[in-house]
Amino acid sequence: MGHLYDVAIVGAGPGGSAAAHYLAQSGMDVLLLDKSEFPRDKTCGDGLTPRALHIISDMGILDQATEAGFRINGLELHARAGNSMHVPIPNHSEYPDHMLVVPRVGLDDIIRQRAVKSGAHFESPVRVRGLQNLPDRIRIHTDLSTTFEARVAILAIGANMRLLQDLNILERPPQMILAARAYYEGMNGLNDRVEAHFAHVPLPGYGWVFPISATAANVGIGYWPSNLPWRKKSASIRVAMDNFLRNPRLAPRLEGASQQGPVKSYPLRIDFATAPTYAERILLVGETAGLVSPLTGEGIDFALESGQIAAEFLVETFARGEFTRSAFAAYDSILRRNFQSIFRFLGLARRLYVNPLLMGRTIAMSEKRPELKRMLVNVLMSQQHPAGLITPHFLRHILLGV
Ligand SMILES: Cc1cc2nc3c(=O)[nH]c(=O)nc-3n(C[C@H](O)[C@H](O)[C@H](O)COP(=O)(O)OP(=O)(O)OC[C@H]3O[C@@H](n4cnc5c(N)ncnc54)[C@H](O)[C@@H]3O)c2cc1C
Repeated sequence: MGHLYDVAIVGAGPGGSAAAHYLAQSGMDVLLLDKSEFPRDKTCGDGLTPRALHIISDMGILDQATEAGFRINGLELHARAGNSMHVPIPNHSEYPDHMLVVPRVGLDDIIRQRAVKSGAHFESPVRVRGLQNLPDRIRIHTDLSTTFEARVAILAIGANMRLLQDLNILERPPQMILAARAYYEGMNGLNDRVEAHFAHVPLPGYGWVFPISATAANVGIGYWPSNLPWRKKSASIRVAMDNFLRNPRLAPRLEGASQQGPVKSYPLRIDFATAPTYAERILLVGETAGLVSPLTGEGIDFALESGQIAAEFLVETFARGEFTRSAFAAYDSILRRNFQSIFRFLGLARRLYVNPLLMGRTIAMSEKRPELKRMLVNVLMSQQHPAGLITPHFLRHILLGV
């Protein structure tokens, strides 16, 4: 019989590697597998929210991430109507007062190396093809001739749904955000702010400019396919990206810039509110549990946090020796306690995007009310429960403009 690990983790993105780090740090025998050799690229906007930096700091890798990235102190929103809003990232009792933009090719390797230093055993390239439940363990089938065995498995395979469907964990693919990005060197007008643009993009959705240096940026677009009357047919993501690059606020700044590498697109899962999060001896982490903000499409913070939550849950589970399906249901309850209400609200808040008029009014109103500005940014960064935002006064103001 081969080696029996305590926990096998499939996927060494932020979610899988965070889980591997926290488990190994607690003395567990951890196997971390990925289909890619590292460092590897991952299509992303590369934006790390203060919430993500908080846990990166807890993992002891904030200095490395800061060195590999670009510090962001504020946010710009540019409405369709032409009005704009700028707001510094507010002070927060728990989270740092800035963001970082760190290209994923570097970030994910920093987090993976942290897990390995903590004691996790990493193997790649290993593509996992299936998981088999045995009475006291999970057998992991791969594209190699060998199999691996562990008492428990974590699936942190991002938006790759094939394995979930093969295991009958997911019946059908949920609705996804479509997103694309490219890197540009030699851009004008970059500063220490991330930009969100609502003109020249299908709504609900936005285009972004996330600087990775004083002259280079990750430029991209994400939107929700929809059947809204004014958008009968969803544009293809490539057409939408080309259109965004013609945005008059962006195009002049790209003149003379050179595109670094191809435009890459990838879908995002945002369905945590209804997604399964566990199965027999299996936990789902990060985007595999649909944990991506339905408002902004950011999910690195939730991937890291759910990795930590899964690790803490398993340390307790091993101490109790209870591996039944009903014992694993407690993991779902912990995730729901942490994320359900904020995800419900972020889904609701997304409706503000649907109507360009509402978005324009919200931005205009925020200019006059600094506390609303701060609240908006905290909501966009998923770091404030937004209950105070939807007051009758606020709704009257943005709906009727009075
Ligand atoms: C265009 C775009 C822009 C985005 N911008 C942002 C942003 O600015 N900020 C932000 O916070 N989030 C952003 N996101 C979302 C973010 O990328 C994800 O939420 C995040 O990567 C999820 O982390 P994860 O660890 O759950 O999964 P992933 O990072 O996707 O990692 C999954 C890992 O699993 C491996 N894997 C998959 N299948 C297998 C298999 N069968 N066997 C072995 N290994 C496997 C993959 O190789 C990969 O390394 C963006 C996404 C897109 C598409």
